[in-house]
Amino acid sequence: MSEKESSEEKSIKPLPLDIDDVIRFFESVTPDRICGHCDSASFVINADPNSKKHARLYAIPVFREKNKTAPVIIVRCDNCGAVYQHGYGHIKRWIDENPIEKFSDPEGDVEHSDREDD
Ligand SMILES: [Zn+2]
Repeated sequence: MSEKESSEEKSIKPLPLDIDDVIRFFESVTPDRICGHCDSASFVINADPNSKKHARLYAIPVFREKNKTAPVIIVRCDNCGAVYQHGYGHIKRWIDENPIEKFSDPEGDVEHSDREDD
């Protein structure tokens, strides 16, 4: 029981991030991204093994804060395998400030635009 309590103290559980939103973040914030080691522009974002639609979060130790971790997302160069960590908080904040525009308008005529027979 004490083990559970201490793990709850360590860090607040971050909400999962939709991998499409994470891709939007990188395309918007780092559009000219190239690998610092090999100049490749091809990267892979690790997906959550339990839910492929979410980005996998990793916990890194917080400097000088015992038993405290911070969540990060890992982006890997598809060519040389170099790994880049990006702070979860930065990405989450950007996604919250830049929500995707969803067209859930019930009167929207886009959905049936190609059914005009008769
Ligand atoms: Zn590389």
